[in-house]
Amino acid sequence: MPEATLFVKLLYYTPEPERACATAARQSHSAVGVKELTQKMSDEQVNAFLKKIIKLNHLSVIEHASFTFGIEGVSRALTHQLVRHRLASYTQQSQRYVKANDFSYVIPPSIKNNPALEKKFVDEMNSVAKIYSEFLEAGVNAEDARFLLPNACETKIVVTMNARELLHFFKERSCVLAQWEIRGLAEEMLRQCREIAPTLFAHAGPSCVVDKVCWQGKRSCGKWKAIEGARWEGE
Ligand SMILES: Cc1cc2nc3c(=O)[nH]c(=O)nc-3n(C[C@H](O)[C@H](O)[C@H](O)COP(=O)(O)OP(=O)(O)OC[C@H]3O[C@@H](n4cnc5c(N)ncnc54)[C@H](O)[C@@H]3O)c2cc1C
Repeated sequence: MPEATLFVKLLYYTPEPERACATAARQSHSAVGVKELTQKMSDEQVNAFLKKIIKLNHLSVIEHASFTFGIEGVSRALTHQLVRHRLASYTQQSQRYVKANDFSYVIPPSIKNNPALEKKFVDEMNSVAKIYSEFLEAGVNAEDARFLLPNACETKIVVTMNARELLHFFKERSCVLAQWEIRGLAEEMLRQCREIAPTLFAHAGPSCVVDKVCWQGKRSCGKWKAIEGARWEGE
C-alpha cells in the first residue's frame, strides 16, 4: 500500500474568468446591450474594473467565474472538512463502488517524523487492509466493509467553486490555524488560481491579510501584528 501524495489540478475554468466578471459588473452601470458590453474593454480596463469591484466588496459579480479542481492523494479526514463548504459542487470517489483492498493512506508529518510511530501506523494500515479483504471474501459488500477504513484512507474528489466561494475558502483554510492537510490543499489551489486569474486572487489569503482582522482569539498565531492596520478579535 503506497503512501498517498497530494495532487491538485485546475481542470476547467470559465474562459477568460476576469473578463467574464468585469463584463458582468459593467452591465450594472451601463445602458448598453450584450454586444457592446463585451467589446472595447482592454485588459487594463478589465483589471482596473475588477480591482474596484473587489475593493467595494461588490463580490456577487465574481460569482460569474467558476473553477473546477481534480484532487487526489488526500485523506478522508481532509474531504470531511472540505465538503463543509456548502457553496461548492463535489463528486467524490465512492467507497461503495470502488473496492479499497490496497488503499493508499496519508501519514501526518507528526507521525512520519517518528520512525517508531510511523512503523506502528503502517502496520495498522496493513492490518486494516487485510481484514477489509477478508470481509469482502466472506461476502460482506464494499458499502459495509468500508466501515473498517480509517480517516487516513486516500480519496479523490472533483470540486467546483466560484471565485467568491474560493476567496472565502482561502480565508478560512489558508490560515495558519487551519488543519495542516487542508491548508496545504488551499495553498496549492490558490497558487493555481493566481496563474489563471491574478487580479481576482491578488489579495486572497487568510482573514488577517484580506480583511486585516484575526478572528482566532487566544489561538491566534500573532501574524496579524506584522500587518499594517490589522486588528485582533478575541478575549
Ligand atoms: C480552523 C477551523 C476549525 C473548525 N472547527 C470545526 C469544529 O470543531 N467543528 C465543526 O463542526 N466545524 C468546524 N469547522 C468548520 C466550520 O464551522 C465551517 O463549517 C466551515 O469552515 C465552512 O465554513 P462556512 O460555513 O463559513 O462556509 P461555506 O459553507 O463555504 O459558506 C460560505 C458562506 O456562505 C454563507 N452561507 C452558507 N450557507 C449558509 C446558510 N445555510 N445560511 C446562511 N449563510 C450561509 C455564509 O456567509 C458562509 O460563511 C472549522 C473550520 C475551520 C476553518
